[in-house]
Amino acid sequence: MLILVVNCGSSSAKYELFNVEKETSLCRGAVERIGEQTSWMVYHPSGKDQTKQKTVCPDHHRAIELIRDTLVDAQKGVLKDVMDVMGVGHRVVHGGEEFNQSTLIDAKVMKSIEKFSALAPLHNPPAIEGIKGCMRIFQGVPQVAVFDTAFHQTMPEQAFAYGIPYKFYKKYSIRKYGFHGTSHRYISMKAAELLGCPVQDVNVISVHLGNGCSIAAVAGGKSIDTSMGFTPLEGLLMGTRSGDMDPAVVTFLMRAENIGPEEMDGIMNKKSGLLGISGISNDMRDILSGLQEGNARARLAYDVFVYRIKKYIGAYAAVLGKVDAVVFAGGIGENVPEIKSEIKRHLRPMLGSACEFLTVRTNEELLIAKDTYNLVKRSA
Ligand code: ADP
Repeated sequence: MLILVVNCGSSSAKYELFNVEKETSLCRGAVERIGEQTSWMVYHPSGKDQTKQKTVCPDHHRAIELIRDTLVDAQKGVLKDVMDVMGVGHRVVHGGEEFNQSTLIDAKVMKSIEKFSALAPLHNPPAIEGIKGCMRIFQGVPQVAVFDTAFHQTMPEQAFAYGIPYKFYKKYSIRKYGFHGTSHRYISMKAAELLGCPVQDVNVISVHLGNGCSIAAVAGGKSIDTSMGFTPLEGLLMGTRSGDMDPAVVTFLMRAENIGPEEMDGIMNKKSGLLGISGISNDMRDILSGLQEGNARARLAYDVFVYRIKKYIGAYAAVLGKVDAVVFAGGIGENVPEIKSEIKRHLRPMLGSACEFLTVRTNEELLIAKDTYNLVKRSA
């Protein structure tokens, strides 16, 4: 059964086509720089070289058309007909408190995703455009929404409530939601597999370190706490996001620099983190080169990054009581073994000798494809 996975961001539409029964990826790619004068169509069939060509793509509807045309291209495409696709799975960032699992998309679900755009104004609108595009282009093919927030809906209220007047939770739904849920679900399942135990029997601290970074305490396959919050800004230091800080810094800076909420938002989301501290880059590879060259601010950025991961693991060990594995994933988690080594050396006495320190390659797309497959099969 062929399942297409679509992940629409503000200026990109990534896709991957899976044969879910065989757990194989047939091809993947992206339309990049949507809405700019020159866009790119990237196509990468499994086992072959990637091609990248210039194109014009004003919006996500056109992006989905370009993806369809690439998939059924007579020479290089992998599909004979769009109707060979049995389901399309969409990554949707925010499902609010309404969705604790993936769901088939109908008019009611679309309305809810639109409603949650208020909570994720940068993320849900492009996903909606992608879904609408796919409904038009893959007519009659079931569409499934897989939410970043869904996995964390098992968090107890004591973990997700903020210490502000309760009326704001009621009025604006302000609470911790957590993100990267599909990745943390995949990582904790994979960890259980590596430990040779049913997922219900293991406690895992899942550490996702990519451009965005988050960490989750997963007890018996259920998320009970996570570092990202109302938005993806809370928690660990990230490529360009500040992570945790005293919220009074925000009001202080807005007054001191005479800046409005949009600019402040941009500082915290796009100019902070590894980039903000180092002044060099948001990319860990550049920070590591900076360390080699003895750059003091690259050293500070790296140290803050690692220190905060240690603190969160300590906190989540306290929350879980017993930890069977600490699992690293994401571009940094998978490629910078010295971070795992340092954390392991430091935390081993606290976590005990039975706790494993693992690295897994996260695969959110595969999990989206599997959820889509299961829902489509069940509904057929
Ligand atoms: P995203 O969150 O966008 O999916 P990734 O999971 O690909 O991002 O992670 C991107 C981060 O991983 C960047 O900071 C990048 O520097 C880092 N990274 C990727 N490959 C390496 C590597 N070989 N060595 C060090 N860091 C790496």
